[in-house]
Amino acid sequence: MKYIDEFRDRELAKSIAAAIRQEAQAGRSYNIMEFCGGHTHAIFRYGVKDLMPDNVQFVHGPGCPVCVLPVRRLDDAVEIAERHGVILCTYGDMMRVPGTKQRSLIRAKADGADIRMIYSTMDALKIARNNPNREVVFFAIGFETTTPPTAVAIKKARAEGLTNFSVFCNHVLTPAAITHILSSPELAQSEAVRIDGFLGPSHVSSVIGSAPYEPAAAIFRKPVVIAGFEPLDVMQSALMVIRQINSGRHEVENEYTRVVTREGNSKAQAIVAEVLEVRETFEWRGLGSVPDSALKIREVFAGFDAEKRFDISAKQSREVKSCECPAILRGVKKPSDCKLFGTVCTPDNPMGACMVSSEGACAAYWTYARHQTLAEASKKRGSEAAA
Ligand code: SF4
Repeated sequence: MKYIDEFRDRELAKSIAAAIRQEAQAGRSYNIMEFCGGHTHAIFRYGVKDLMPDNVQFVHGPGCPVCVLPVRRLDDAVEIAERHGVILCTYGDMMRVPGTKQRSLIRAKADGADIRMIYSTMDALKIARNNPNREVVFFAIGFETTTPPTAVAIKKARAEGLTNFSVFCNHVLTPAAITHILSSPELAQSEAVRIDGFLGPSHVSSVIGSAPYEPAAAIFRKPVVIAGFEPLDVMQSALMVIRQINSGRHEVENEYTRVVTREGNSKAQAIVAEVLEVRETFEWRGLGSVPDSALKIREVFAGFDAEKRFDISAKQSREVKSCECPAILRGVKKPSDCKLFGTVCTPDNPMGACMVSSEGACAAYWTYARHQTLAEASKKRGSEAAA
């Protein structure tokens, strides 16, 4: 299949792996953060990790939109869904993410809340048109890739005079997250989690372009290579990061040229800018409050803002105790560091978003490296007990 098969070619993979082994200098380590969960899954699914020399390590980043949504916002969505007369529309991955006291949208649905899984924002609009006497709320999550459809839905709802439609907006922005990670004292002080470069977001960059990562690359002197999601994309991008590190460069390079440009999609950017604006701050699971890292609905579209339409009370939200999702999302731990992995927490009984989401790091380890991860976790527990 065009654009797929040639990026999974075994012989090419071998030659890129050989080039990486040649470029990676002995006595030096290369910690490369793959920002997106899609990269993490490609690394595990295609065995990319096993093709790397020991001194090239991948550090999993926060690029899973379901995973980074803090528990409080999920609790808010459950609270909205449980109100009389409301239909809450959401993408499938959100349904099973556990909130406070493991209350999820799917549990609320089982208890009678009208929660509907949709595939596009147009589905939510259709539900609003077909149910004029009900309040239809779209639970919007995701990075810059999914913001244009949300903006289009709000514009369309206004054009059609749909007064029973609103959006609970939780869209987040990737450049701010990269800047935040690089400014973190935890990372600055820890040699164990040092990041030398990034595989930058691919689909996100098709919308915003590669230029927004240039300030972070220059300020923190870290190479960023925009990387596609196929295995050869990931390997070629890792090679480009390694070459930059070796030559002392810290630029934004674009490996994913078949989709991404420096400027991005100006039409999509214009629609988003018309409907949504940057929030001063937003809480991310794992990263805490990150300035300028999310979007909210502009005042001119306030009638479609679920946060204004519903009184969402402040509440005491809590992560599941012992779930290491927050630390995994900021790259300081791996799923094998979590005591619950594969014991209490499995895809059938998830304790955290990283196990639920199709882009989550724990889901990748479970799907492609379960036995090895369980063996590593058990070895760690054994040495902790012995110490
Ligand atoms: S294995 Fe489960 S409990 Fe542990 S970090 Fe992952 S999602 Fe959280």
